[in-house]
This record gives sequence, structure tokens and C-alpha cells, in this order.
Amino acid sequence: MEYPEIQRRRTRTVRVGTVAIGGDAPVAVQSMTNTRTADAKATIAQVRRLADAGAELVRVAVPTREDTAALGETVRAAPVPIVADVHFHFDRALEAIDAGVAKIRLNPGNLSDREQVRRVIAAAADAGVAVRVGVNEGSVVERRAGAQREADLRRPMHELMAEKMAEYLAAFDEAGFEDLVLSAKSHDAYTTVAVNRLLADRWDYPLHLGVTHAGTAETGAIRSAAALGALLSEGIGDTVRISYAGDPVAEVAAALELLYSLRLRRRPGAELIACPTCGRLQMDIEPILREIADALADVDFPVTVAVMGCVVNGPGEAEGADVAICAGKDKAVLYRRGQRVGTVGAAEIVPAVLAEVKSLAPGR
Ligand code: SF4
Repeated sequence: MEYPEIQRRRTRTVRVGTVAIGGDAPVAVQSMTNTRTADAKATIAQVRRLADAGAELVRVAVPTREDTAALGETVRAAPVPIVADVHFHFDRALEAIDAGVAKIRLNPGNLSDREQVRRVIAAAADAGVAVRVGVNEGSVVERRAGAQREADLRRPMHELMAEKMAEYLAAFDEAGFEDLVLSAKSHDAYTTVAVNRLLADRWDYPLHLGVTHAGTAETGAIRSAAALGALLSEGIGDTVRISYAGDPVAEVAAALELLYSLRLRRRPGAELIACPTCGRLQMDIEPILREIADALADVDFPVTVAVMGCVVNGPGEAEGADVAICAGKDKAVLYRRGQRVGTVGAAEIVPAVLAEVKSLAPGR
């Protein structure tokens, strides 16, 4: 069976250390540490956990001189490129570049003058360091009371954010600096969608997608998936971060799951398609499902397995799977790549599915 593929938007390729963002590169997963960066030991440990979980880039905050002083040690020990997150202090950006980071994240609106931005651009160009230019909704509306603020407040947020991005990019254009990744983040999922559509129309730089201040795991993962899923489905987005309060390792798992769901990444092992259960269920399949899910955790080649609870909709739903089982009363029908291969008793379901999966291992 054929499923439609997402046509990704063509962008420039930007190199961030060993990782390519944009162009033909797969959508990169990134995350951010929540340790104090000045504590290199704790930060290195967390970067390693994030990399083990699948993060391909890790960002660290560098609010103080102590943070940038510890950065070199983290950069040298990290298994993935390190991105420095700079706010307010342009000298932190210069120190981070000196420390060997692969990219800096800059919100030029938070730097006090254009000359500081020019100096950061010049240092990044000399060191071959990429820059993510970020616009957050919190820094686009004029803060001082007056006519400008009144006018800003009457405008759609996504338009204001795209205009602010154009303003920020003027300094990079002037310097001829093109190793840029752009990001525009809002806490509002649909504003995030709308502003990124505008950026994608206007520039061919790769886009970093994320929803800012998305909240706790319960709300944050879904809010992020709503915005990022819509954009990625349209082919927009070259690197993603799902962010919510708590252990950032969970963010990486959520980001990868989103990419697997959209088939922008192929799950390295087995993919389980499971019956959500309904009133047609003829067998308690939950324990069977759990047993199969546990056994499939060790499978290291791509294979899709469907476990369906009835023979009414099950065969159709299982058709795209490599191995499928459709449970009936006390027995189940087994399929291999859409072809019926036999009927097994309830107690034989798990071993029969696993035997079929093993038979599909490469080299068999
Ligand atoms: Fe219901 Fe059958 Fe679909 Fe499971 S496979 S949800 S039992 S219709």
C-alpha cells in the first residue's frame, strides 16, 4: 500500500558542527539542558543523556560569565554539537564562540545596539559558527506606552513577529552572513503556525520550530504537537524542539515520536499499530498487546506490527503492516504483508507474531 509522503520545503543547508540543518538533511531533533551551565559536570551528564535519547543538538543557557567559562569543557566532552543560548549580553555570545560552540541562539531585540549585533556576526563568521535568529512574541510589541504600542497591539501577532524578523535580519544581510536558522515562537499554537508560514514564504533559511512556554508535559506535548505537526505536514521545519517543564530527556522522546508519526523519520526498530479497543472487541487484547510491545523493544530492524481486536475492521486497518494479527473469539487470524497466513489459538498469538517478525529480519 502506498502512503503519501510529505514534500519538504527546499531551504539552504546550514552546518552546525557535525549536523546539517535544512536542505536534504532529515529534520533534526534538539533539546536544551536545565542544569546550570557553570556546573560543567552536571551539564555534560545531561547532554549525554539527551544525546543517548536521540537529541542531535543540545542548547545550553549562558546568562553569566561563569557559564561561558565552563562552556569549553562541555563542548569538548559533548557527543553532539552545543548551541549557546544568549540573551541580553553580547559579550556572552563572543565568549561562547571562543569556547567552541557550533551555533549561538540570539534574539537581536534583546541586545542594546546594532554595533553589538555586528560584532557578534563578525565573530561568528570568523569562527564558522551558525546563528539562530529568534523572535519571541514577548519581544515584538513596543513596551513603552504611546502611539506605537497602541498600534502594535491592534496588529496580528504573527505579522508583527515576521516584521521583527525582517528587522533583525537586516544586520545579517549587511554583513553578508547566511549561516542562519530562523525561529519564531509563541505560546499560542496557531500563532506559531501562522508566523512560520510567513517566514517560509519569505526566506529560504532553515526554520527551527518550537512553541515557547508550552507548559507541563500534559499540555506542552500536545500544544507543541498541534503546532509543529501542522507545519511539518506542510513541509515546513528543519529542526524541532518540543519544550515543556521537567526532564528534557522526555522532550526528545516526544519530538522523535512526532517525526515518526509523520514518517519524517523511520523508527529504528518495530512500529506497533494497536487497536484502540471498542465494543466489537472479542478477546481481551491488552495483555497480548503489552507482551508483544515488550518483546518488540529488542527488534533492531524496521518492521510494522499491527494488533487488532476484531475481524470486522482489523484486516483493513492492518493491511499496511508487515505482520498483523486480528483477534476473533478464542482465536486470531495472522497476516504477513497483507496476505493471510493462518489461524492461531489465543495462547499462540504472541509466539506466532514474534515468529513472523523474526522471519522478516534482514539476512533471513
Ligand atoms: Fe474496534 Fe476492531 Fe477497531 Fe479494535 S480493531 S477498535 S475492536 S473495530
